[in-house]
Amino acid sequence: MISSKNSNRAGAVYLVGAGPGDPELLTVKALKILRKADIVFYDDLVSPRILGVCRKKAELVYVGKRLGQHSCLQEDINSRLFQAASEHKIVARLKGGDPSVFGRVGEEYSSLLANGIQCEIIAGITTASGVASSLGFPLTHRDYAREILFLSGHKKDGANTDSFRNLNCIGKTLVVYMGLNSLDTIVSELLESGNSETTKIAIIQNATLSSERVFIGNLENIQTIVEENQVKSPALLVVGEIVGFYSEMEKLKNSFSEIPQTL
Ligand code: SAH
Repeated sequence: MISSKNSNRAGAVYLVGAGPGDPELLTVKALKILRKADIVFYDDLVSPRILGVCRKKAELVYVGKRLGQHSCLQEDINSRLFQAASEHKIVARLKGGDPSVFGRVGEEYSSLLANGIQCEIIAGITTASGVASSLGFPLTHRDYAREILFLSGHKKDGANTDSFRNLNCIGKTLVVYMGLNSLDTIVSELLESGNSETTKIAIIQNATLSSERVFIGNLENIQTIVEENQVKSPALLVVGEIVGFYSEMEKLKNSFSEIPQTL
């Protein structure tokens, strides 16, 4: 527990977005902070290559909490950040993607500010945008989708989601974070909502990393695809017509004799 208000000598805590995995998708601001931070707290979704950009002398502290097995309670993390701010000048708390998208940054931000610690949130590229661009499907290509919904397949109390009830996917791109474990519920709720079995769905595991795997299916066959290929977390679900656009673009790309060079 945090016991007292902080003094003026306290350092600052930066709640930093690490992006989806590829270190090149870190923001310049995040990079600058990581190169200066005295101590860096990180969790499961932060790839080792991103930790590699931290200052050599920085202390790296793992505070991960995988779904269902809370290795570190939120309250403990809050007090460790508070403690670190009283011992160090620059404290970084690295979170996968954008800390403000299903990143529980609010709890840390409010706790630190309430306890007199200077604190700033540094945006990161959320997995949805990172993967959409790297795979080449615009989330709001206007021929396919005029709306994007960012949904979570997991609820705070561990209960299954019901966000997919009465949800028509036509004209929308649905992006589901933490959806792999509740895929069966998501699929049946989408079908019960009147969506066709042929509604397209993509699952991207380890997006933007060299271990990335992409699976394309529809509401009828996606569970079989997941089982047969032993798809594992972290994985992002994308539902909607834009998945068809992605497949079309892949065919065009495969017709190139040489793969275009990236930077
Ligand atoms: N703040 C993060 C999301 C955290 S919620 C962001 O903005 O991206 C955790 C979920 O994000 C995972 O269960 C998974 O659905 C998704 N995710 C995060 N990194 C991912 C990656 N590299 N590949 C696929 N999904 C990822």
